[in-house]
Amino acid sequence: MRSILLATLASATALPALAEVNIYSYRQPELIQPLLEGFTESTGIETNVAFLNQGLVERLKAEGERSPADIILTVDISRLSTAEEEGVTQAVESQTMADNIPQSLRDPEGHWFGVTTRGRIVYASKERVGEDEVTTYEDLADPKWEGRICTRSGTHVYTLGLVAAMIEHNGEEATREWLEGVKSNLARSPQGNDRAQVRAIWAGECDISLGNTYYMGAMLADPEQEEWANSVRVEFPTFEDGNGTHVNISGVAMTANAPHREDALAFMEYLSSPEAQEIYADVVNEYPANPEIAPSELVASWGDIEPDTTDLGAIADHRADALRLVEEVNFDG
Ligand code: FE
Repeated sequence: MRSILLATLASATALPALAEVNIYSYRQPELIQPLLEGFTESTGIETNVAFLNQGLVERLKAEGERSPADIILTVDISRLSTAEEEGVTQAVESQTMADNIPQSLRDPEGHWFGVTTRGRIVYASKERVGEDEVTTYEDLADPKWEGRICTRSGTHVYTLGLVAAMIEHNGEEATREWLEGVKSNLARSPQGNDRAQVRAIWAGECDISLGNTYYMGAMLADPEQEEWANSVRVEFPTFEDGNGTHVNISGVAMTANAPHREDALAFMEYLSSPEAQEIYADVVNEYPANPEIAPSELVASWGDIEPDTTDLGAIADHRADALRLVEEVNFDG
């Protein structure tokens, strides 16, 4: 992998067709490096990566047809569907992708593909929460949880994904009431990231929190955070209508003006392959999107996830309403 600046990337487009793929990534270097190495090893195609924290779509729009980028890597369905809506992606037709990635995890037109899933689950205090106390997402609004819940901001994409899913399942009015109920059960106003909520459980400030599954793996791998992780259990809440646990994706898309279409397609197909899906499972503690590949032993040890199979695109369509509701109930206030 070569991690280089935009200026270098831009000049690369003036060169004759090299076997290379230029990637704009919201995903961190340590998460994707093993995948880039595996790809180059198996195809001989080099990768260049620009790691971004924000403004990926804006940058692609500003660069227009001169953009050196071939590939977008990001988490969150709404970021992927926004990229599609903003016209910075292109439809990809690939039998390999269709065979490797279930239909519910990819855009029907091929503008984006999920490569991993992550559950939005509940971390529960081993000491203060009973084995069958956590049931549904709806139940988090029950007064039995008063003063016991910690969460990050309601406006974060992870929270908005769950709120958008709640709208899809129960409608807007029920979701507004649910948000008000959860807010009134909070032990403190929303703050910090997913791991900070587990630390708060460990410190006795609250009993349960909302978080993504893979943070359990990340905390266990960190000497300071291991104790926090060991103070909680992973619980898999479901929706009352019989649907499973809310999942979101990390995904890949080809840019609208990709200069290296063939190589970019090879990269996308590699990410969906059993080899890359095993790397995802082991390195990032997420669930492989390819059903042929099992989650890592560690992830499996947290329990079986029964994912909500509701179409992710349908959930993403509610994201603006989700944000409006969160603001209307002043969830973070
Ligand atoms: Fe995360």
